[in-house]
Amino acid sequence: MALDPLTLLTLSIALAAAAALYLAIEWRSVREPSLLYWSAGFATISVGSTLALLRSSGLLLIGIWFANGLLVVAHWLFLLGVARFTQARLSRGWYLTFVIWPALLLIPSEPSWSRIMLLANSLLVAVLTLKASWLLRPHGKSLSVGAVQLRYVLLIHGLFYLAKALTAVIPGELIDLAAFRGEIIQISLVEGSMAIMLIALSMTGTERYRREKNIARLAARDPLTALYNRRALEVRAPPLLNGVSPTQAGALLLIDIDNFKLINDLFGHTAGDRLLVTLSEIIRAVLPKGALAARLGGDEFVILLSNTSTESIEALGRALRDPFYLLTSQTFATPQAVTLSIGAELFDRPPASLSQLIELGDAALYASKRGGRNSLRLVDRTQSEMRSERPGH
Ligand code: GH3
Ligand code: MG
Repeated sequence: MALDPLTLLTLSIALAAAAALYLAIEWRSVREPSLLYWSAGFATISVGSTLALLRSSGLLLIGIWFANGLLVVAHWLFLLGVARFTQARLSRGWYLTFVIWPALLLIPSEPSWSRIMLLANSLLVAVLTLKASWLLRPHGKSLSVGAVQLRYVLLIHGLFYLAKALTAVIPGELIDLAAFRGEIIQISLVEGSMAIMLIALSMTGTERYRREKNIARLAARDPLTALYNRRALEVRAPPLLNGVSPTQAGALLLIDIDNFKLINDLFGHTAGDRLLVTLSEIIRAVLPKGALAARLGGDEFVILLSNTSTESIEALGRALRDPFYLLTSQTFATPQAVTLSIGAELFDRPPASLSQLIELGDAALYASKRGGRNSLRLVDRTQSEMRSERPGH
């Protein structure tokens, strides 16, 4: 079946317009600027392809130079969108593209005009696309599945244009831009329609996956301290709890600020918030590898430890209480000391549930408060139930 270039071009116009619209609608709900750049890129392709149709009416400047120039601009917009997405900065050199294209007008029209135009166009599109694909490479920050997909689609599209640039330097009558003839143009138009669809779909995917990831992250975190919330802890605790055995004891530490209300009442809610954030930072700083920390609510925090011992728990308790007390005693003058009470449970068998464990920790915490606060109360449930109850120091 012979594929008529004009039919293919008309199809590209429609597909690019649909992609532009689709990405613009997506932007309305996601509000990510990269989607707007990409939408503008497809709108530019749609306009450029419409202008390319004028080639058959003999308008060569508009139909070839202008239309191909818009194709370069569109890929520029794709690159800008990717740079926005990956938060990368593009150096000034990339803006030189806009100097190269007008310079092509200075080339005498025959005999190699078509060839030079094709070479410059293909090289510019290839370089811009490969750069965009390069920006999406994994580099420390983890990329979503959608971004990886876009990276490969852009890589293949960029390599295709690189190959197209090669055909421009191979001798032989493969192309005739003015008459819209030649295998390269034919293949390129088919590739164009496929690329429009694949690139547009991957672009939507990148932002969708990122948004889903962000929503999942936000849902798992306490908004004030960015520690896990109770729900996230419930999801993450089972592997740690189930790994507990007589040779690898686990522990839960329930931490509550003593007289926290005084901070709110005497220094304001914002000072209270700041103190909660500071405590979360202390917790993060001393948290052993593989342990989990969460804010249960109010001024109550929890730490889950694996492979631990009474000595480690007591050391951890001191590492939390000492800097906290130092900070509050120096920063806030309060009638009663603002300190930390900690209830800890050491166990060598997986507990029935996290809730049950927290209830037990709560009892230990209450004992710590009753015993004069600013202390750690450790209940050691290893080997025999309630073998010892040791007040902290
Ligand atoms: P206790 O020594 O018995 O622990 O008493 P407390 O003064 O620390 O108060 P308690 O633990 O009983 O209650 C916690 C208080 O923390 C109650 C509430 O006003 C306050 N609070 C809860 N969430 C927040 C928050 O996000 N920010 C601030 N600033 N205060 C909060
Ligand atoms: Mg409290």
